Amino acid sequence: MPTWLVTGGAGFIGGNFVLAGVASGVRVINLDALTYAGNLDTLASLEDNPNHVFVHGDIGDAALVSKLLAEYQPDAVLNFAAESHVDRSIDGPGAFIQTNVVGTLALLEAVRDHWRSLDDGPRQAFRFLHVSTDEVYGSLGDTGKFTETTAYAPNSPYSASKAASDHLVRAFHHTYGLPVLTTSCSNNYGPYHFPEKLIPLVIAKALAGDPLPVYGDGKNVRDWLYVSDHCAAIRTVLEKGRTGETYNVGGDAEMQNITVVETICKLLDQRRPRQDGLSRATQITYVQDRPGHDRRYAIDASKLQEELGWKPRFTFEQGIAATVDWYLENQRWVERVLDGSYRLERIGAAA
Ligand code: NAD
Repeated sequence: MPTWLVTGGAGFIGGNFVLAGVASGVRVINLDALTYAGNLDTLASLEDNPNHVFVHGDIGDAALVSKLLAEYQPDAVLNFAAESHVDRSIDGPGAFIQTNVVGTLALLEAVRDHWRSLDDGPRQAFRFLHVSTDEVYGSLGDTGKFTETTAYAPNSPYSASKAASDHLVRAFHHTYGLPVLTTSCSNNYGPYHFPEKLIPLVIAKALAGDPLPVYGDGKNVRDWLYVSDHCAAIRTVLEKGRTGETYNVGGDAEMQNITVVETICKLLDQRRPRQDGLSRATQITYVQDRPGHDRRYAIDASKLQEELGWKPRFTFEQGIAATVDWYLENQRWVERVLDGSYRLERIGAAA
């Protein structure tokens, strides 16, 4: 079985990816800086598992990355590490440039130098997979979908920093020949999602009896994909994708934010009714919109589906029910990850 160096593997998607990878027998070297979004609790089931090596460190630390590459000789490097929350990027873009752009560049340089030093066979087989987002494409009107050839038009400091990192990854392929793959995915949801993002935030606030903040008119549209389907897509691209290519990943599950929030309310009403008998939907409160809030994202994932044979296993209805159930059963995880600086407050409201 292969060895992977995974960055950001204590975060939401990286954590799910590492758990699935190790369960399938892969040895994972997991490099994570443990920012507010990184949590070792997510990886608790891997404690004592010899196929998981956790390394606390920064992707921008080229000496550390070089040492890990030399020591563990991974077959692939998968880059999940990032600052990932649009609202935080409005309040403080600097950290996003530092990790997503400067950090990714340092990582790429260390990986390129290591890859160049490999013998023919391992050098041919080596892959660098960069995990990116549909947000790099900007915002859509009422119709149309993003394809891999849609021009980049990032609108937030977060998406601008991801776009910059995508361009660096592309440039390392064209300039140095590094065998790269890029995936651009829509909004993910599922277990181990830090409760600053819409779905886990709404679940947490609904259970606490707090107002459920919906930005603007609630009609912004996102395409939602259950996290295990995203992880399976990444593995498919890693194993079968053509180097130098980008693959869009999406769930064909476009939804207005207000519909997402109402769906969560209904599921919680069935599973954990309020004592006063009122629906949790009565807690919905419209709040000031996010500055520069993209109106609609929709993904055309036909390249990935037709070329590589991936398709999502979960409908939105199945995925959201599984997610609500997971949060109800894992309140302890939520309490522990909220033990730090963030307490479900509004961020990124003022531009
Ligand atoms: P996350 O914020 O939950 O996790 C990010 C992880 O990266 C954390 O564990 C954090 O500690 C780590 N990290 C941050 N800076 C680091 C650094 N300098 N060095 C090493 N580790 C560092 O993010 P996520 O939602 O799991 O997203 C993972 C990747 O997927 C990101 O690149 C993001 O842009 C991309 N993505 C996310 C979504 C989504 O809906 N969440 C959708 C498409 C793409």
